Amino acid sequence: MNTPHPPGKPGNVFLVGAGPGDIELLTLKAARLLALADVVLVDDLAGSEVLTLCPQARVVHVGKRGGCSSTPQSFIERLLVREAQAGHTVVRLKGGDVSLFGRASEEIAALETAGIAFEVVPGVTAGLAAAATLKSSLTHRDHAHGVAFITAHGAEGAEIPWQALAQSALTLVVYMGVARAASLRASLLAGGMSADTPVIAVQNASRDNERSVCSTLRAMEADFAAHALQSPAVLVIGEAVRERAQQLADEQMSRVPPAASPRQAQA
Ligand code: SAH
Repeated sequence: MNTPHPPGKPGNVFLVGAGPGDIELLTLKAARLLALADVVLVDDLAGSEVLTLCPQARVVHVGKRGGCSSTPQSFIERLLVREAQAGHTVVRLKGGDVSLFGRASEEIAALETAGIAFEVVPGVTAGLAAAATLKSSLTHRDHAHGVAFITAHGAEGAEIPWQALAQSALTLVVYMGVARAASLRASLLAGGMSADTPVIAVQNASRDNERSVCSTLRAMEADFAAHALQSPAVLVIGEAVRERAQQLADEQMSRVPPAASPRQAQA
């Protein structure tokens, strides 16, 4: 049951999670809203296939992938407000889930300030899609009682309590970690995490071109480089994936010539 929208301006905004890429992981609600939308503001990570669900809508690409030319956040917020005030039904489509690393709080604040009715529709976040790719649980009743979704953005600085995380026995699911593997590794080692903690990177989780690279905290930077791991990828770090990491390493060993790294695995 939805909370009733506050009365106010015409037009509605829906902040919608598009999931990790596989269109079948989109919620039914997201598909319904896309089919109703007048305007769709879409991130790069949302993938192009979902746009087949809104052929009637005007689509505005507002991506901002790391390192590429980006749409300023303030522009996106102004556009959301302007389109809603014009009476349009606006879907703001974000990769994965809306509430994780998507600057949703700023868009929500802008909509609230402008008095515009909006709703948030969750999506499958990349970290959960990665667990599905790996066919692995992120928790383990003996040694991982929870999960932390973390961005490696800021891994060099003091913003993230790496020491607490390193010692928490939580499974760490790290977003935006590929380019920051070196500082992530250094921070977790300095925080007291064991160097042989398993690390599995999943690139393009849920997409046709998904792949994984299996490593350890000690070796991850070198292994990622050796296997040309690219963004978008999430890193799953912790004892919960130890067994899976071992299986992946064994499978890889049986498939590759002996000279190759035993830690590597491609799924
Ligand atoms: N809101 C998104 C996260 C956006 S931040 C979500 O909930 O998934 C962007 C980061 O998400 C990328 O750098 C990468 O770490 C991760 N990511 C997004 N899609 C991914 C995918 N299909 N496979 C692996 N990682 C992905």
